[in-house]
Amino acid sequence: MSKVIGIDLGTTNSCVAVLEADTPTVITNSEGYRTTPSVVAFSKDGTRLVGDIAKRQAAVNADRTIFSIKRQMGTDYRKKIDGKNYSPQEISAMILRKLKNDAQSFIGEEVTDAVITVPAYFNDAERQATKDAGRIAGLNVLRIINEPTAAALAYGLDNGQPQKILVYDLGGGTFDVSVIEIGDNVIEVLATSGDNHLGGDDFDDRIVNELIEQFKSSDGINLSKDPAAMQRLREEAEKAKKELSSAQNANINLPFIAMAKDGPRHMDISITRQQFERMTYDLIDRTVLPVENALHDAGLSKSEINMVLLVGGSTRIPAVQEKVRNLMGMEPSRSLNPDECVAMGAAVQGGKLGGQLIPGSAASEIILMDVTPLSLSIETVGGIASRLIERNTTIPTRHSQIFTTAGNFQTSVDIKVFQGERKFTRDNKLLGNFRLSGIKKALAGTPQIEVTFDIDANGIVNVSAKDLGTGHEQSITITSSSNMSEEEIERAKWEAEVYSRQDESREELVNMRLEAEQLLRQTEARLHEHRKDWDKATRKQLKEDCARLSKAIGRTTPEKIDTVQAGDIREAKEHLENTIRRLGI
Ligand code: AMP
Repeated sequence: MSKVIGIDLGTTNSCVAVLEADTPTVITNSEGYRTTPSVVAFSKDGTRLVGDIAKRQAAVNADRTIFSIKRQMGTDYRKKIDGKNYSPQEISAMILRKLKNDAQSFIGEEVTDAVITVPAYFNDAERQATKDAGRIAGLNVLRIINEPTAAALAYGLDNGQPQKILVYDLGGGTFDVSVIEIGDNVIEVLATSGDNHLGGDDFDDRIVNELIEQFKSSDGINLSKDPAAMQRLREEAEKAKKELSSAQNANINLPFIAMAKDGPRHMDISITRQQFERMTYDLIDRTVLPVENALHDAGLSKSEINMVLLVGGSTRIPAVQEKVRNLMGMEPSRSLNPDECVAMGAAVQGGKLGGQLIPGSAASEIILMDVTPLSLSIETVGGIASRLIERNTTIPTRHSQIFTTAGNFQTSVDIKVFQGERKFTRDNKLLGNFRLSGIKKALAGTPQIEVTFDIDANGIVNVSAKDLGTGHEQSITITSSSNMSEEEIERAKWEAEVYSRQDESREELVNMRLEAEQLLRQTEARLHEHRKDWDKATRKQLKEDCARLSKAIGRTTPEKIDTVQAGDIREAKEHLENTIRRLGI
């Protein structure tokens, strides 16, 4: 079996790791970074860009650049590009495909299997969508595991003594809190809670709104109507937010942000940490209730927690740390790298599932026991949600229920499945409907159909049914509007493979352009350095070659380069290389 990779598919950034000699190792991407922006873009000519390259061109291509797609997983959201509707699964698959390719280059062999993490608080539709994204990317998803659990796994490997920890995970788009017991070789999640729509993006939005308001009153221009300006604002807001984690003051300087009748307008606004804290205190407050709920469900008081682990980039915000400190009455630990520990934990679990751990090693001994974050119920008379499986039940778990008919000679029964904690189904998330059909005609209440609901180790709900009268098994598929059908997934998978080949050749073009740029810079620097000792003919030849290469490069950008232009660059580059070789310099 080839190596199993662990993927943290984040809202803002993603990270991939693999086990090397039982140690989780973060994989460096093709740009040389340890995390990859979860950004996808379609350039004007339809080429797909993923990661840093997509993020860098966002301001000039705002309406064709997609950020934070994780927030839309499991929903009906579709992004229309050039007449085609892309589902969140397909867009996430483009990110996963890049991570897979980067992992293959790093490991030096084909990668097919992965463990992907999701926020603990993700519901069934969101988990299923993540798994489908993996499939579309050509990955065999061995397991979906919860992000805080993965972080605890990475932590538990190094700190094996029995203890109870609280993982406070505030990322780019989601907030999770899990209470976890690390015992002798067992990592058991006792309870989990969170908010799927709370994260660093919301903090950025607050700064963006402040900038829009200030600019409106100073310059009378509403920037929120201009997508390109908004993209620049978002980028600067995130930068300022990060700066405010270490400095007391951040400056937002955006020249030419708008065009007025009398000429261009520039933005130059300062925000203090205090102002930022005032703008965002309610967001931080929203994390308190989930912490209390998780502790309550775990049956623990704050004083019984030995350690609080901070995970997710947004826990770098000082006010967040302060909140956790006050809430839990202890100094939170920052011993893990919040950007990498989730992927590392996923790699450990991947190694375990792939049988790649050294027998007898600490990692090989660990057993992971997770819980389902939300209760599972079915709708009964009056729209009441009748619970079948309570939240925070250890998974995998199953529950069976006998259904019968309400009318004489009824041959089918409709069942609606929900996830959530509210009493009435209308307030919970509908996972889907299914129809039990083919019931033998009989008087009302006679047929006995046993329906089994199980939540697998991925936290995904599966349903099966058996007619106890005839012993017939029924196959049931939950049909949910937000999830993709088998056929749609297969088609998307095929398309992804075709595009991947195109993208790879495109990546080659972009890299070749980069190498040409480097050669040009080096040669120009050397020309300057040797301006006194190289003879005139040598300098003239080099200058001519450099001018030709510079012209070829100048006709393109990293984001916009076609094969003909690339051919020109390649030719000019080879010409210069030959000259250098011929002159022996
Ligand atoms: P994650 O999903 O864990 O990668 O978290 C990403 C989020 O963390 C994004 O919203 C980032 O803007 C935010 N983040 C990263 N570094 C910092 C920092 N130094 N201060 C504040 N937020 C940060």
